[in-house]
Amino acid sequence: MNAAQPPIADSARQPAPPASGSTGNAARTRMLVVGIVVLAIAVAPWIAGNFTVSLLNDIGIGSLVALGLVLLTGIGGATSFGQAAFVGIAAYASAWLTTTQGLSPWIGLFFALALTGLSALAIGALTLRLGGHFLPLSTIAWGLSIAMLFGNVDALGRHTGLSNIPPLVIGSFSLADPRSIYYLIWALVGLAFLFSWNLLRSRPGRAIRSLRGGAILLASVGADAYRVRLTLFVTAALMAGLAGWLYAHMNRFVSPSPFDVRASIEYLLMAVAGGLGQLAGALVGAALVLILKNGLQDVLPMLTQRAGQLEAVAFAVLFILLLHFARGGLMGFVRRITRKKQVALRTERPAAVEPLAGRTLPARGTQILSVKGAVKRFGGLVAVNDVSFDVNAGEIVGLIGPNGAGKSTMFNLLTCTAPMTSGQVRFLDKDIAGMPQRAVARLGLARTFQHVKLRPHMSLLDNVALGAHSRTTAGVLKAGLRLDRKEEAQILQEAQRQLDRIGLGDRAHEMAGSLPLGTQRILEIARALAADPVLLVLDEPAAGLRRKEKMELGELLRKLREEGVTILIVEHDMDFVMRLVDRLVVMNFGSKLVEGVPSAVRADERVQAAYLGSVA
Ligand code: ADP
Ligand code: MG
Repeated sequence: MNAAQPPIADSARQPAPPASGSTGNAARTRMLVVGIVVLAIAVAPWIAGNFTVSLLNDIGIGSLVALGLVLLTGIGGATSFGQAAFVGIAAYASAWLTTTQGLSPWIGLFFALALTGLSALAIGALTLRLGGHFLPLSTIAWGLSIAMLFGNVDALGRHTGLSNIPPLVIGSFSLADPRSIYYLIWALVGLAFLFSWNLLRSRPGRAIRSLRGGAILLASVGADAYRVRLTLFVTAALMAGLAGWLYAHMNRFVSPSPFDVRASIEYLLMAVAGGLGQLAGALVGAALVLILKNGLQDVLPMLTQRAGQLEAVAFAVLFILLLHFARGGLMGFVRRITRKKQVALRTERPAAVEPLAGRTLPARGTQILSVKGAVKRFGGLVAVNDVSFDVNAGEIVGLIGPNGAGKSTMFNLLTCTAPMTSGQVRFLDKDIAGMPQRAVARLGLARTFQHVKLRPHMSLLDNVALGAHSRTTAGVLKAGLRLDRKEEAQILQEAQRQLDRIGLGDRAHEMAGSLPLGTQRILEIARALAADPVLLVLDEPAAGLRRKEKMELGELLRKLREEGVTILIVEHDMDFVMRLVDRLVVMNFGSKLVEGVPSAVRADERVQAAYLGSVA
């Protein structure tokens, strides 16, 4: 997903919400702004005219859909051009049930959400594995076909749609009037925002925010990127569904055109205009687009008789201008002004709670990893040729060799990132060859990456907290409803503990992207440690580091060994590993050349020849 992002998704800044309860001026300012907005929304119907109230209702409904898109597209990185179809499925579902079956709109709500959720599940299962531009293209395809379906089914009134939809009724109080449904709409908008806000500050939220880092990053912490994306897709669809249900019972009439691809693009435009990186962008964007649209509808007829077509042109121009000049949308602009201050102000540490349950580590000296006769072929090339070695608990083993020796390939085989041609890898007495990478991660094999995979716009604390994914369980619903707070506090405490362990505890709230490369490498180690691993595997951790950074890294690894962490380090830099490891395995041209303690390996002529050969 990360390689070929569509331009809209690419442009969005990842949100960087504070990880825990906020303190300081920034949080107070935010509360104040939220308070003012809530108050303004609450009093608006008393002072505004009918037209404005209806417009505000539309904005509320639009912002529900846009909120789903901010989550899905802005944060999850999956662009959807078909969101209006989910609005339509829910609107038609409730419309059909209440008009033809005579059931209550409240039963309609359940039916609408169930149908929308199931449709999203089915569509998502079929399309979310598509990479790059194929996913957005597929959303256009199903967006078109679902809208077409509405116009061609007799039971749904074909192109004339369904009318006489009953209004919502609470007790004996009818919400037929725009002023009376207003509060229901905005209460639901408020709840949806609260849900999303909670979600982003949680275990599933961190996984969602890491989706752009790619499936391998998520697998390395034991998460399934496809499942995370599918859950997110369904969540966004349900928000659209809620909007659709409100739409049907507010307008009391549905027809196909408000749910076609053009409407989907308008929703996407709302999210982009408001700012894909921020939840508030959904509300701001919906207001911006709908007010502008209303303005255009007043002005354009004065200029031309083809106002409808001109409106589409005006929106297209707006879209292009946005992508050129304001990719972060309005809220992105606001954020840029306020962010720096916020980071500087945050110094609080997570609350002290009962720690997360840990693994019982194998006794020092027990064999934990055993590679036997590993072979990997790439066509005719044998990258790893019959390599065998073991790693015992409590030691640091170095896997070294000149460039092209097959170290990275070996690394991929034993972390199950790539399938083995033949051979065996046993980890904790389980045959892991052929297991999915995330399953191996869950067993307690944690890794870092040669090319650092961190989420630059997430805080250090959040990046490390992601590492504890497989030790915890909270899902989207629990997180959104804040039923995960105990576990979440444990995760944050664990992340802080690992940050302290690597010496970055004071910088927990800084953005990972602001760190120099050497420090980012060390941060990856903290993320790996947050998984409470049995074995830590590092791929060329010293590559690209300056001398001082290498020394610091060496010190850290020695300290970890003293604390009982077992480490397998794949490295090109011989000097770096010599002073660090207990044992070395040297590879050359895919085969194991020598194995032994550093002094013996250093003295070995074959090793010297191999390294000299590669340097020359
Ligand atoms: P090292 O990490 O020791 O530098 P690698 O494991 O990256 O070595 O590469 C070992 C050999 O396998 C090299 O000749 C490399 O070109 C080849 N190789 C690695 N990955 C692939 C791949 N995906 N497809 C084809 N050849 C590969
Ligand atoms: Mg390599």
